[in-house]
Amino acid sequence: MIALCIVLALASFADPLGVPETPRPPPSAAPQHPPLPTPPDRPQKHVHRFVRVKENKWIEPVTRRVNTGKVDRKGQPIYETVVVKPGYWKTIQYEVCACGQRRG
Ligand SMILES: [Zn+2]
Repeated sequence: MIALCIVLALASFADPLGVPETPRPPPSAAPQHPPLPTPPDRPQKHVHRFVRVKENKWIEPVTRRVNTGKVDRKGQPIYETVVVKPGYWKTIQYEVCACGQRRG
């Protein structure tokens, strides 16, 4: 009698008709495709986006070597460097793109 109960209990576990089947999601109307990869022979074309830049630049002074009219102990003329035009800061403006292209 006990063996028959065990067999019946195992048969009830093994019976799939007693367990309700989980509902499947309905198939979608439009099938979803993965996005197509870009062909390697057609790279994206770069469009320059220029940004205006202001920059201070040091302009070197203009100097010249002139004879002082004096001589040293050996009789050699003494020269000195004089500033013909002093150096100055100049603000320059140009436009530059992120790729390094520069204009202006
Ligand atoms: Zn660019």
